[in-house]
Amino acid sequence: MGRLDGKVAVTTAAAQGIGRGTAETFAREGARVIATDINVEKLKELEGIPGIEIRKLDVTDNEAIKALAAEIGHVDIIFNCVGFVFHGTILETTEKDFDFSMNVNVKSMFNMIKAFLPKMIEKKSGSIVNVASICSSLKGVKERCIYGATKAAMIGMSKAVACDFIKDGIRCNCIAPGTVDTPWLCDRMEHIGDPEKIREYFMQRQPSGRLGTVQEVANVALFLASDEASFVTGTEYKVDGGWSI
Ligand code: NAD
Repeated sequence: MGRLDGKVAVTTAAAQGIGRGTAETFAREGARVIATDINVEKLKELEGIPGIEIRKLDVTDNEAIKALAAEIGHVDIIFNCVGFVFHGTILETTEKDFDFSMNVNVKSMFNMIKAFLPKMIEKKSGSIVNVASICSSLKGVKERCIYGATKAAMIGMSKAVACDFIKDGIRCNCIAPGTVDTPWLCDRMEHIGDPEKIREYFMQRQPSGRLGTVQEVANVALFLASDEASFVTGTEYKVDGGWSI
């Protein structure tokens, strides 16, 4: 028996990294998963996995989100995973950078929840899981001004949704990962230069002395999405190898 048997989940950023690992985990545990991403080529790698259906979705396109919600109808789980990391202090961040990050990280979650929540309320049940970060209201991180601000906004909005709809049977939680080994992180290390040295730096800043794995984050997403977490709402669940201690 799967831990998500009979449930329908919609996931964003499912083509790689945490989103992909979570979509696969949800499907393995019995959910029907609508796995979405802007990158259709990569998303196609999920084709043929039992329980997974793929759809192209640019989360900055609210009309596309509304159309997807109209097509799928009721979902039991929303997994909002898209996130863009802008590097820089406040002085290095322009208004354009601010708007872009807010749009991709925060407005997308706002629009996804608005589109799918009404049907959850009708059924008096639903779990929303949003991927924030330790870099947020939980911890200041150098040169992550707007990234940290967007992730703090996600935590604030999640608590507001949790509070407003608790009587409707809706739970809304965030996951706050530390540094996790994903394709995005590898790209960043290549981009900054000397990947080995940078990997060592990322590993050492977490007391665990290592990077997290996608599966370690997906395990927490599975718990929060499932009925096992039926008394858990409004939390920011840290998965950070002790970085925030
Ligand atoms: P990633 O960067 O490896 O993958 C992101 C995915 O998002 C890609 O498949 C990309 O195509 C998709 N995407 C980008 N823009 C999109 C858009 N407009 N519409 C739809 N899809 C879009 O991701 P990751 O490293 O696994 O991170 C996933 C989430 O976890 C993000 O919110 C990130 O901020 C958060 N996070 C990651 C880490 C980490 O160390 N990797 C740490 C803390 C938080």
